[in-house]
Amino acid sequence: MNVDPAILLVVATGSLVLATVVLAFATHQIASSTERATGETSNQSASDLVLQADRLLVEHPDLWPYLRRNADVGESTEKIFGDRIEAATEFYLDVLEAIWDHHSDFSVKDSKAWREWIHSALQDSLTMQKMYADESQWYPSLENVLEHCSHPKEHSWAMSIKNADQRQP
Ligand SMILES: [Zn+2]
Repeated sequence: MNVDPAILLVVATGSLVLATVVLAFATHQIASSTERATGETSNQSASDLVLQADRLLVEHPDLWPYLRRNADVGESTEKIFGDRIEAATEFYLDVLEAIWDHHSDFSVKDSKAWREWIHSALQDSLTMQKMYADESQWYPSLENVLEHCSHPKEHSWAMSIKNADQRQP
């Protein structure tokens, strides 16, 4: 059977185009599933960090008022307890910083949820607010997380930091 070489060329070119389209589609699928997996891993790590921080409060409920209820360390606070509050405060701030370190891997929805959760956590702890104000250079990710807020009325502390930053030259 004699087949016109021109037809063969058209068929071969068509197959090549089809193969390229299939390959491009497969590459896109792999890329988006890798992206999803990275997002899930980061979300998982963030949840693990929060569970660790929660465990601290379950095991040491005397720290709860300082990290969740805006209690302040008073003059009469025993030094050893004051040190524990300070250590727990630093740990909690480190957890918040570590969560937001990976925010670019989160989905848009997760990113917004974590951002507002971090704002709430900071709103409820005077000791974290003070430590952040004293040592903000230790927390570049928290500086970033404070730039936007969907609930400015509830997160007045986040807003005050944002406004103070904007006043700087
Ligand atoms: Zn907020």
